[in-house]
Amino acid sequence: MKKIGVLTSGGDSPGMNAAIRAVVRKGIYHNLEVYGVKNGYQGLMEGNIVKMDLGSVGDIIQRGGTILFSARSEEFKTDEGQERAIEQMKKLGIDGLIVIGGDGSFRGAQKLTEKGYPCIGVPGTIDNDISGTDFTIGFDTSLNTIIEAVDKIRDTATSHERTYIIEVMGRDAGDLALWSGLAGGAESILIPEKKEDFSEIIDRLKRGHERGKKHSIILLAEGVGSGFDYGDRIEAETKLETRVTVLGYIQRGGSPSATDRVLASRLGARAVELLLKNQGGRMVGIQNNKLVDHAFDEVFTRDHSINEEMYQLSKELSI
Ligand code: ADP
Repeated sequence: MKKIGVLTSGGDSPGMNAAIRAVVRKGIYHNLEVYGVKNGYQGLMEGNIVKMDLGSVGDIIQRGGTILFSARSEEFKTDEGQERAIEQMKKLGIDGLIVIGGDGSFRGAQKLTEKGYPCIGVPGTIDNDISGTDFTIGFDTSLNTIIEAVDKIRDTATSHERTYIIEVMGRDAGDLALWSGLAGGAESILIPEKKEDFSEIIDRLKRGHERGKKHSIILLAEGVGSGFDYGDRIEAETKLETRVTVLGYIQRGGSPSATDRVLASRLGARAVELLLKNQGGRMVGIQNNKLVDHAFDEVFTRDHSINEEMYQLSKELSI
């Protein structure tokens, strides 16, 4: 392994830059040539590839987003698309690739590995929805953004004695809603992994109101349904004034937290170590605060599950 590439793909997340920096610097430390691929697999097929030096990743550790840009590409899902990408790698003599992204991106990395170009996946997504790692790059930063919003909304909720629904990201995964709900002291948490009885939510709201509670906060993961629909239903059933805030894309941006920077640096560097050992088709992760790596097949076949103990606790603390 003499030359390696790095790209970011799928949804961006804060900390991806710290991971790119780690890959580039760790690679150069081990005398590799490192190439940055712009715009994910789309750029790989088009040959939008630049050689990275130590300075090219200077002053980016604190920046959100990704300096390599990200993209989605339908063409890359086809054999022809993958062959086009391999042609570009051959031209430059790139022997292996590090893919920073979510599990969709890893499926592409798996295909390239099967075709003789070893790829290592680095989990970068705010959703924390990838199995084989306790945390993904960007989750902690996003969580902190949500908490800041929850605290602010709580101030106005108290002043007006309202119920607030805060809709956060997470199509199939409730981690953002669960963690921010627990950290923000939410009354109810609605996540796709758990189908909470609607009447239970209504009862809890009514009980709180009768006890003189000034406000209620409900954290809703987008995958469960529209916050506005829930808002209408709750207002109709409880007669309590209800407001809805959809946090949207602010959850994806911002300067990465220290935790995400450290995680990204460790995972990016470990990915380079695996390529140096000629390993491919694997994802690096962190479990019980130890760096690990798993075959993509394992990552794809196991579902990321939510922390049951935390879910139960969130209920007990919001009686
Ligand atoms: P994420 O990586 O965040 O889950 P996507 O699911 O959109 O994001 O995947 C990002 C890109 O990875 C896609 O646009 C596509 O180019 C590539 N990709 C996804 N699934 C496959 C697949 N089954 N085979 C090859 N490439 C894939």
